[in-house]
Amino acid sequence: MANPPILTAEQRKQALERATYSRRLRAEVKGRVKRGEISVRQVLAMADSEPAIAKMRVSELLESRVGVGKIRSLVLMDKLHISHSRRIQGLGSHQRSALLNELGGAIARGTLLVLSGPGGVGKSTVATQLRSRANFWVSVSAATRQPRSNEVDGVDYFFISENEFDRRVKDGEFLEWAQFAGARYGTPREGVEKALAAGKNVLLEIEIAGARQVRAHSAEAILVFLSPPNWEELVSRLEGRGSDTPERRAQRLDLARNEMSAASKFDHIIVNDEVNRVVVALVGLASNRSL
Ligand code: 5GP
Repeated sequence: MANPPILTAEQRKQALERATYSRRLRAEVKGRVKRGEISVRQVLAMADSEPAIAKMRVSELLESRVGVGKIRSLVLMDKLHISHSRRIQGLGSHQRSALLNELGGAIARGTLLVLSGPGGVGKSTVATQLRSRANFWVSVSAATRQPRSNEVDGVDYFFISENEFDRRVKDGEFLEWAQFAGARYGTPREGVEKALAAGKNVLLEIEIAGARQVRAHSAEAILVFLSPPNWEELVSRLEGRGSDTPERRAQRLDLARNEMSAASKFDHIIVNDEVNRVVVALVGLASNRSL
């Protein structure tokens, strides 16, 4: 019988480090699939250039998808004649596309739409319109500022204290958060994930730094920049906000100027010349997205 290869201490150490790295990477990727940050399609693409992912079992990948348990994953593989122990690298091209088709049909995840743009451009009016659409879920953010006179806790924002905001940041409860004009705003992670897994399209109405954070974690999100028809219109909207002090208004104008320069980093720019047109464009973007 052949002797097993004898490795030097250094070779053993390297092999161990490689194995640890591969395990960690696979766990990280599965976690991201589970949280809806990346799709099965993206993992299959990753496997083409990353051996650690190529060696992941197909069953493990499927089970990390919300809505696909152990049994469902086995049934799916039987149906597509994929052996239960098959690794991603062993999938043929027909099997790959059949798998993606099946997943697309079985549990179509919702689309994550991020609507951003300068303060005063009319994001919240658009969000209110989308809220009444059956297949849309609009996230309600947490905020540390005081409610305006027309705002309702739990509807416009969850108004929370600085301490509570700190706690939620520490416990990872926000999908993203940012400081804006002296207050902090954050998107509660749980509701977004549940809605996407249930097949709803999700709208986040947030400022630019937050949109960037979403992009960093989710290649699937669609980032939309809502632009005013022109600068003068934006100024008049911001100046018309009776609830702001003059200092606050000046601060918001400065911020808006900065925010306008970020438009080119977004996937789409939509001019807010008419709310209905914006709503139709957003619904179109969400429904064109496949798995
Ligand atoms: P306002 O105080 O006028 O309601 O909101 C100020 C800014 O904060 C707006 O640009 C709004 O889109 C943004 N915003 C609201 N909620 C969130 C959030 O959860 N995260 C981030 N990053 N920005 C938010």
